[in-house]
Parts: sequence; structure tokens; C-alpha cells
Amino acid sequence: MRVAIAGAGLAGLACAKYLADAGHEPIVLESRDVLGGLVAAWKDEEGDWYETGLHAFFGAYPNMLQLFKELGIEDRLQWKQHTLIFNQPEKPGVLSRFDVPDIPAPFNVIMSIIRNNDMLSWEQKIRFAIGLVPAIVRGQKYVEAMDKYSLIEWLRRQGIDERVSSDIFVAASKALTFIDPDQVSATIILTALNKFLQERYGSKIAFLDGSPTERLCQPIVESIQANGGEVHLLKPLKQILLNPDGTVRGFLMRGLNGAADETITADAYVSAMSVDAMKVLTPPEWRELDCFKKLDGLEGVPVINLHLWFDCKLTQIDQLLFSRSELLSVYADMSVTCKDYADPDRSMLELVLAPAKDWINRSDEEIIAATMGELKRLFPEHLSGENPAQLRKYQVVKTPRSVYTASPGRQAYRPDQITPIANFFLTGSYTMQQYLGSMEGAVLSGKLAAQAICKADLAESVRQDLQAVA
Ligand SMILES: Cc1cc2nc3c(=O)[nH]c(=O)nc-3n(C[C@H](O)[C@H](O)[C@H](O)COP(=O)(O)OP(=O)(O)OC[C@H]3O[C@@H](n4cnc5c(N)ncnc54)[C@H](O)[C@@H]3O)c2cc1C
Repeated sequence: MRVAIAGAGLAGLACAKYLADAGHEPIVLESRDVLGGLVAAWKDEEGDWYETGLHAFFGAYPNMLQLFKELGIEDRLQWKQHTLIFNQPEKPGVLSRFDVPDIPAPFNVIMSIIRNNDMLSWEQKIRFAIGLVPAIVRGQKYVEAMDKYSLIEWLRRQGIDERVSSDIFVAASKALTFIDPDQVSATIILTALNKFLQERYGSKIAFLDGSPTERLCQPIVESIQANGGEVHLLKPLKQILLNPDGTVRGFLMRGLNGAADETITADAYVSAMSVDAMKVLTPPEWRELDCFKKLDGLEGVPVINLHLWFDCKLTQIDQLLFSRSELLSVYADMSVTCKDYADPDRSMLELVLAPAKDWINRSDEEIIAATMGELKRLFPEHLSGENPAQLRKYQVVKTPRSVYTASPGRQAYRPDQITPIANFFLTGSYTMQQYLGSMEGAVLSGKLAAQAICKADLAESVRQDLQAVA
């Protein structure tokens, strides 16, 4: 079965890989000149990589870890010490750690919380633990039902102290969704917490040993090609062409640089584009169908990824850090955490700026100046005083619409991978799957779409066999 897939982000690539593994012929069509979508990366003129996003992998990513195993590239995941590290805004330069001991879940996470006395008092810990009881006892059903509340509303309903919300949840919310806790659905954070509490190594973090484009996307492409599939860059989908019955007749691809448009035909078609692109390309004939109408309830959230190269070392910490600063979310010194970006003498900080709605239209210079102001509080020793570290160069990567905005009520708008159109499927981390808008969610959604296509193909061949017998 030939399957045309628009989009070579992780969802499109995973979908193609699993279709090719199952003996089908996927053809992936990506609009840009780079693989990976939100994990795409580029090299500057000096050969240094810069990325769309600082990406952390978690132990609670079963489908992603399985994919690494299938590709034979597990050694590319650099697992860090099992700990979560937070900056303390009131104590510049001082870090607070939640060290997770190597004992079964959920006791390991509970122990890490009990042992941390910088960020939570005993009273706050007890209130927090009591507040979490319904999520633990009633499980995912309860977690899904909490989508009607923002995280802050949910915390208030549980009687959880304001300080817990400001200390831990601002950081978690900004890191997981790029928005603040008063804007984010309680379901998102509770889902992540549940995964971390259920799995011994769920909250353990790994970094890829190089750029995701080269070290993760390229091996997926090689696997697709080795099994008879194709992946093409610079192939933007322009229009979804329909048959009179509303099914897909073909993908009309925009011809670039004066080339003519071309039509790609297949037995099945998949959108692995972001939800914002899919909304624009939804054929008018489909717009009243519930599955496509509800896409209007989803929208990509702005985020900015920063890279700052310094002339000396600012830190030796080999881990993701939660900045807890107003402007920034998580960051890491990639010269320490990532093998391919390693530099023994000079730091390269990669930082996520979120929420970014007030910054996305500002100049790179303004963004860097504000970031340097905040970094002075995170690294007072190196960035203040008489001989501060010098910024050698920087890169600012703005993504005006990244993962879907995970505000309250969005779960109802996330579509299934199967649509009412018999030969058309959706994939992407915004589609319904049990993980949030994440790399794990993208890979899982790609796998689910591939499974749905294989099942539809099987049903069709059974139907044809029965017809032949009749
Ligand atoms: C700053 C940042 C940090 C992040 N950090 C993490 C993290 O630490 N951990 C984590 O798990 N996740 C993280 N994420 C989220 C993760 O990157 C995404 O959830 C995931 O990569 C989404 O993959 P996708 O395939 O669903 O969508 P996308 O990556 O958006 O892929 C869609 C693809 O479709 C293509 N496309 C669009 N229009 C067309 C068209 N007309 N024709 C053909 N192709 C088209 C796009 O170019 C793109 O390649 C982060 C994201 C960002 C932006």
C-alpha cells in the first residue's frame, strides 16, 4: 500500500517508519529543507549547531525509547543523574535539588520531595501530598476530568498552598507547555506527575548526544528508505485534492523555484503537519465534519529557543535546569550535557524563553539583552563584577506556533488519528494520545496512525476477498 505523508517532524517520520516496517510504501513530503519540524537544527558558519528547541528525553517515554532500540541508536541517549535541579530566585547562584533515590516508584519521588527543604516546608509537603491523593487513587480518568480547570484553579480547589504553585508549578508549567500555571490545563501537569510517580525511572532525563536532525531523524529516514519508503524535502503540500465522494484523490505539491506543481497519488494519505498548517489546508468540503471543525479549538503556542556562546565556562552542571526566572524556562549548558557540542573551556547555554507571546515580535538584540539581565541573577559570579564572561555569539530561534496551546478544555478538541474520510489520517503530537505535545506524543501518534492504516488495509483486503468468494 502506498501512503503519502505530509510533514517530516517526528510524527510523520515515525508513521512512515512503522508503515515501512509493516511492508507498506510510505512517501514523506516535507515543506522545508530540513528534517524534524520542531526538533529541526542547523549548523552556523563556524560549524556550531543551533536548534528549534532544547530537548530533554524522559524515562517515561516508552515509545521513544522503543524507537531508539529499533534503530540501534540507544547509545546516543546520554542519561543524566536522576535529579531535578531548580534555581532559587531569592538566592542568586544557589541551586535546589530533588535527588531521586534508586528505589521503587512512587517512593523514590516521594523521598526526593521529603528530602528537599529549600523549596517546600513540611506543611506544604503534606498539603501537596493530600491534594494529589485523588489523582493517584482515581487515576487517568480523574486526571482527564480535571481538564476543565487551570492548574492554579485545581491547586486552589485542593487547598494547596500558593507558594507550592509558585515554586514548583510555574517551572513545570513553563517547561512542559511554554505557558504559565493560570493558563495551563490541570490535566497536563497531573498527567506528567502520574507518569513520574508510576515509573521508577520516569523522571530521569536524557539528552541526545548531538543534533536531533542528524542523530535521531536521519536514522529514522535511513530505516524508512531501507524498507522501501521515500523521504523528500522541499515538497510543500499546497492542496488536498478530493474525489466526488469526498475521499482524497491526491496531494497537490507546490512546485518551488519556478517548477510546476505536481500531484502525488497514493492509496492512503496522512497529515503529519502541525495543527495550524492542517487547519489552513482542510478542504472546504470537510470543514463541517466534527473531526476537522474541532481543530479550530487548537492553536500553536509561541516559544523562543536561545543559544549563547561564552568565552569561558559558567558551570559544569551536567543536567537540565529549571531557571524559575520570569523570562526563561529550562536551560542547560550544552558544552557539558551534549557530547557533540562539548567544549572543555567555554560554555554554550541553550535556554527556552517562555511564555513568549510578548517577545516573539521583538528584535533578537532586545531578547538577548533581556536574557543577559536574567542570567546575571543565575550566574552572579561569572556575569557580574569586574571581569565578567563575554558573550561570543548567539542564535535566536523563534517559533510563533509550536506545540498546541494546552489551555483548559483543549482535550475535547484533540482529534483521533482516524478521520471520517476513509483514506485520510492525522498524526502529530496535538492528536489524541496519552502524552502531551511532546516528542513521545509525536512518536506515539505516528505509531497509532500507522496501526490505523494497516488495520484499514487489512479490512479492505478481507472485504475484497469476501467479494471475490461471493
Ligand atoms: C522550544 C521547544 C522545546 C521543546 N522541548 C521538548 C522537550 O524537552 N521534550 C519533548 O518531549 N518535547 C519537547 N518539545 C516538543 C516537541 O518538539 C514536539 O512535540 C514534537 O517535535 C512535535 O512533532 P510533530 O511531528 O507532531 O510536529 P512538527 O514537529 O511540528 O512537524 C510538522 C512538520 O510538518 C511540516 N509541514 C508543515 N506544513 C507543511 C506542508 N504544507 N507540507 C509539507 N510539510 C509541512 C513542518 O515543516 C514540520 O516538519 C519542544 C518543542 C519546542 C518548540
